[in-house]
Amino acid sequence: MMGDADMLGSYAQGRWYTAPDDGVELRNAVTGEPVARISSTGLDMAGMLDHGRRVGGPALRALTFHQRAMLCKALAAYLHERRDEFHALSLATGATRHDAGFDIDGGIITTRVISSKARQQLPNDTVYRDGAPERLSRRGTFVGQHVYTPLRGVVVQINAFNFPVWGMLEKLAPAVVAGVPTIVKPASQTAYLTELVVRRIIESGILPEGALQLICGSTGDLFDHLTGRDMVAFTGSAATATTLAGHPTVLAEAVRFNAERDSLNCAILGADAKPGTAEFDLYVDEVVSEITAKAGQRCTAIRRVIAPREHADAVAGTLRERLAKLRIGDPADPATDMGALASHGQRDEVRDAVARLADVSELVTGDGAGFAVHGADAEAGAFLPPQVLYADDPTAPPLHTVEAFGPVCAVLPYGGTDEAIELARMGDGSLVGSLFTYDPSIARDIVLGVAADHGRLHLVNRDCADEQTGHGSPLPHMVHGGPGRAGGGEELGGVRAVLHCMQRTAVQGPPDLVTAAVGAWMPGAGRNVTDDHPMARYLEDLAVGDTFVSEPRTITTDDVEHFAEFTGDRFYAHLDDAALAHHPFFERRVAHGYLVLSFAAGLFVYTDPGPLLANQGLTELRFGAPVYLGDTISVALTCKTISPREDQPYGEVRWDAMVINDDGVEVANYELITAVATRAAGDRPHDGAGGAR
Ligand code: NAP
Repeated sequence: MMGDADMLGSYAQGRWYTAPDDGVELRNAVTGEPVARISSTGLDMAGMLDHGRRVGGPALRALTFHQRAMLCKALAAYLHERRDEFHALSLATGATRHDAGFDIDGGIITTRVISSKARQQLPNDTVYRDGAPERLSRRGTFVGQHVYTPLRGVVVQINAFNFPVWGMLEKLAPAVVAGVPTIVKPASQTAYLTELVVRRIIESGILPEGALQLICGSTGDLFDHLTGRDMVAFTGSAATATTLAGHPTVLAEAVRFNAERDSLNCAILGADAKPGTAEFDLYVDEVVSEITAKAGQRCTAIRRVIAPREHADAVAGTLRERLAKLRIGDPADPATDMGALASHGQRDEVRDAVARLADVSELVTGDGAGFAVHGADAEAGAFLPPQVLYADDPTAPPLHTVEAFGPVCAVLPYGGTDEAIELARMGDGSLVGSLFTYDPSIARDIVLGVAADHGRLHLVNRDCADEQTGHGSPLPHMVHGGPGRAGGGEELGGVRAVLHCMQRTAVQGPPDLVTAAVGAWMPGAGRNVTDDHPMARYLEDLAVGDTFVSEPRTITTDDVEHFAEFTGDRFYAHLDDAALAHHPFFERRVAHGYLVLSFAAGLFVYTDPGPLLANQGLTELRFGAPVYLGDTISVALTCKTISPREDQPYGEVRWDAMVINDDGVEVANYELITAVATRAAGDRPHDGAGGAR
């Protein structure tokens, strides 16, 4: 940890920079003592953007998705080893060890998950193909393919004070995987923790130079130098978001602006969840946890506790009892349930907000005067007790507009399900809403009633109680961000997070050109029919378009009847001509679709041991025309995509399998997924590739 009131550094254009002025003093949230000073005076903002675009961008774009994802994996491991240091400094933000888990460990886990999702779902390539090719002409000479390529600018992240680590990492990992450099601007109040983590990242040397820069302090004239190739990823209050989104350069250059703003999230108790039910208890547990975790300073925290009017008193009463037992104080003490707010300024803002809410509701937890603070000075630190309000009129506007960004919530009683839906929607757009019910019809009514106003809906009942991940925790796998008041932005959501930093382009043209451009074989493009079997080739020796054309095989009545007996699939369409007299599709008995697939595999298989390791599945199967008894089929198997793996001696090859009858009509088409060894792997057979032949 830095000495008292040291100036925080900014990492710009490949070196650490310290502002020459006094800057602004940042104070420890628990003791009130100075922690650091912050200033960005003299930083060359235009130079930083230029450095990112000129140095960081090309270095990242020289790598594939998987190579960049491996950097994130290495980064997560490196940071994990140093987490104790981060946790120690995090105490100064007022966060308990548990709170810091969301921020520090949550950020590291998110980095790891984004890396893993990217390696599972993106090709080991520099271009991402979005969806299947589109056939745009009758004869197939003009096709289209949507692709994503990295933005050629910089992601400027501007983060809120409450997640100094997670807030950075959840945006950095997707940008790295996308191949786009990042400039991080943490909120001043807790920037010392972000600065420490960035120092460690830079020291690690894991990311290429220019991939990550840091601004501690104000952004100066940074926004004046943005272009349409850059992106701003903002997290914070609606007021700041509105100012920044309205910056003349952002408007004139159409700079991408993703906003994660404040929201008044709700938790609804289903009408079935009476006191004494598991769902009632889970509901109260969740509200307590949400308003006390990080002292209620989470954008996703429950602010509006929407409960059936007949149970609302019980909810308020149970909350009061539970919160009275809460131990507030020194976040370093493991016995502490809730630490301090991030700063005195923050505490003042929360008090003001509570006063506005109290105009239309009553405090059921007392006014918080004289509460006990353990192991710390109540005045020196930014401590505040949890406060629960009860509003007899749940429609009073402040309840749905005033965010008290601290340990505060209001109980809002409702009459019927429709009223609960209306109240939830009065938030005018939220990050998350949760519902506690065991009744499927209530779940359907409320989910469909409120979904359009929410980025995420979190359903809980007794069945998932032990495994549910919590109302307030955005998961890297699932989308985070909500409409309207919540900012209308979107983050996370697996590889969606990566795609947010990329441009989608519709590439359309003749199949051969589109194939060459996007690196995947398009229907209608040339097939390179090879003398040897492409399935006998190592990964490096294969090329997109390599094709095997099989011998023909006639499907006999005996084949179909044997298949029916052997598999038990005696569906009448394969066995009973008479039953098909008025069938809308079939003139007479047809071969089983699975028989066609099985025979197709028999026609194209390369039987000897070799580079082909496993059949990993097939996708996009369509049966285009019936195969009648006596028809002859053959298969053209064409290499569509080749995706090596960075950490394995094999890669994934996808094949277009086209099965035609003797009239040349396509009777089946599908994509076959195989694991193929690299030449470097020699004849080592496999390493847990999965699948079976
Ligand atoms: P804030 O005051 O809006 O500040 C957010 C960020 O914007 C900070 O980094 C701040 O830097 C920066 N900023 C402020 N004015 C700026 C300007 N003119 N130019 C450039 N940057 C500027 O919000 P906060 O108090 O840090 O965060 C609390 C709020 O964030 C709450 O309302 C909470 O609900 C919301 N939040 C939302 C999410 C979400 O995912 N939706 C997550 C967390 C928090 P300085 O600190 O240096 O002023």
